[in-house]
Amino acid sequence: MMRAALIVVVLGLVGFAAAWLAEYPGIVAVDWGEWRIESSVGVAIGAVVLLAIVVALLYRFWRWMRTAPRRLRAAHEAERRRQGYRALTRGMVAVAAGDAEESSRLAKRAESLLEEPPLTLLLSAQAAQLKGDDRAAEKYFRLMVANPELEFLGLRGLLTSELRQGNTAAALEHARAAYRLSPQSEWIQATLFELQLEANQWKQAAALLHDVGRRGGSPEPTLRRRRAILLLEQAADVEASGDRPAAATIAEKAHTSAPEFVPAAVAAARLLTTVGKAKRAHRVLETTWRAAPHPDVAAALLAVWPDESAKQRLARTQALAHLTPGHIEGDIAIARTTIAAGDFPRARRSLAVVGGARAEDLESRVCRLWAELEDAEHGPGLAARDWLMRASSARPDPMWVCSKCRQGTPDWRPSCPFCNAFDSLEWRHILLPVADDGSAATAQMRAVALARAPAPVARIAPPAAAPGPSASAGGNGGSEPANTPPPQFLAPMPPDVPIIGPREP
Ligand SMILES: [Zn+2]
Repeated sequence: MMRAALIVVVLGLVGFAAAWLAEYPGIVAVDWGEWRIESSVGVAIGAVVLLAIVVALLYRFWRWMRTAPRRLRAAHEAERRRQGYRALTRGMVAVAAGDAEESSRLAKRAESLLEEPPLTLLLSAQAAQLKGDDRAAEKYFRLMVANPELEFLGLRGLLTSELRQGNTAAALEHARAAYRLSPQSEWIQATLFELQLEANQWKQAAALLHDVGRRGGSPEPTLRRRRAILLLEQAADVEASGDRPAAATIAEKAHTSAPEFVPAAVAAARLLTTVGKAKRAHRVLETTWRAAPHPDVAAALLAVWPDESAKQRLARTQALAHLTPGHIEGDIAIARTTIAAGDFPRARRSLAVVGGARAEDLESRVCRLWAELEDAEHGPGLAARDWLMRASSARPDPMWVCSKCRQGTPDWRPSCPFCNAFDSLEWRHILLPVADDGSAATAQMRAVALARAPAPVARIAPPAAAPGPSASAGGNGGSEPANTPPPQFLAPMPPDVPIIGPREP
């Protein structure tokens, strides 16, 4: 619209000028030496305009000629860069496909075409790693570390490379540097934590836990329990060095950090007992029993007073059970001590209470206690044998089950003895197929679970039916993998999985 108006205005002005020139004709003369040029004003103006147009065109041509080399060079570089990016992309695809030769060739091509180290270093390092040339890969990773934008990637590469070669000390150094650089990365948090555990650096690991907790990376109960586990490890080291009082103090700290955590209470009570603080040990166990009644706590309490008579032991067990009236663990603990005290009618009453409403809920440990009772009261006979038979097919006892590999173990450990995952053991029933379909796999699973079931006298544990302590009895419930093998640098990066991370069922 504007443009049309402008054209109309210009045309109007030109028409007006032409009319004006026609109305006032004149002559323009130029004298130059012997030459004289005469022309009308209109023609002269036309000639001047024409001359201006020619000069403008000549100037543009001159400029075009002058910038031609630069433009040619730019076009050439753009083409090289296009080819370089193409080589880079295809190189990444070759790395993902595991084609060492092709990725190495494309890395060199991308390097020569792009001349931009930050872009090609990663591919070159990955190609070298794929070829098994660790030294070349390390060279590239070090170059990456020198580049602020790629420092974390370079450290990650060096770290995984050292881990693959089993140099955990060097890997720990790189992990520390990477954590300083990117403390919010859950992958580096987990890797650094694992390496610190491996190096028995409990204090450093606890500091890392604290740091991660400050950033809101983990739920508070998980952090408290893990802090307790680290303190227990520290206490074990101190005890091994012969300083039992110091070990007892540290173990008590672990108990204070997570009062509901059974292994901390049991360890603290044992150490406090060895240094003559039996009453304190007793208090520790009572505190934990209130939060999480557990057979280990009942057994630990009797170990605090090892020289007492069967009657006194029964009184102590009753007092403990009284803290959580009606809890099945209390009844089982009482049944055990009454059998030992020879009070068979009372043991019978306690066992009748824990029998459960449904026959299939009867746990193996309760059947074994019945057998023990029959054996103690009437001597070896049919009834005791019957109960032992029932024990073999009854519901397996709860145990420490790994939340990662699902395997069970009767004794608690800081890390799973099967998959080495840290803080992965929780007190519960191992999962068995409900109905035996007679298949070999089912039979094997049952056999494995039963073979791993706790020894008859060693342990009594809460049934799943009761509002048991399984969630709080020191099971961690954490689902973070701990000692999973470090991710290969070459492999696509796995989703960052926190060892100290936020996942909690
Ligand atoms: Zn495991």
